[in-house]
Amino acid sequence: METPEVLISRERIAERVNELATRIDADYDGIAELVLIGVLKGSFMFLSDLARALTIPHRIEFIAVSSYGDEESIHSGAVRLIMDVRHAIEGKHVIVVEDIVDTGHTISYLLRLLAARQPASIKTITLLRKPDRAEVDVPVDYLGFDIPDVWVVGYGLDYAERHRTLPDICEIEPVS
Ligand code: 5GP
Repeated sequence: METPEVLISRERIAERVNELATRIDADYDGIAELVLIGVLKGSFMFLSDLARALTIPHRIEFIAVSSYGDEESIHSGAVRLIMDVRHAIEGKHVIVVEDIVDTGHTISYLLRLLAARQPASIKTITLLRKPDRAEVDVPVDYLGFDIPDVWVVGYGLDYAERHRTLPDICEIEPVS
């Protein structure tokens, strides 16, 4: 595997995370509590930086999903819930926190699942999005960066569990 090359530096990430937090603070000004739902595992670093930059009251939850393992269902975009949130979200203001929107199937599945629980509102934030890979049209309310169709690692994102803790978002050439 080639050495990861920096695509988005830690300084640019920090700047963007602060800008997004400022917008969220303004948009939710005065609410009793915002619920941030981080999609494991990739979003954990983004969520921790975002949460620390927010000044509005908020609670943190995690949810985990995986794609069905066989080739055919990966292409059909089938997603399976493997860990649910701990507390009910009915009547709560919710933001789903994703690391990256690729085809859009994961966020589309999560929005359907969570919206059925009747939160007061539900929005999405993603650090990264690959517009060239979109298969389903999903609403992204807060966006860090659009990136090209490359495999990225670092800042929470992995390649077979490697490179997850690199401080910058880097591009690698996956070995097939
Ligand atoms: P989607 O359902 O939108 O196709 O896929 C979203 C998920 O695919 C992300 O949460 C992430 O786990 C994974 N993914 C997509 N592209 C990348 C990438 O470039 N790097 C890493 N590490 N994960 C990716």
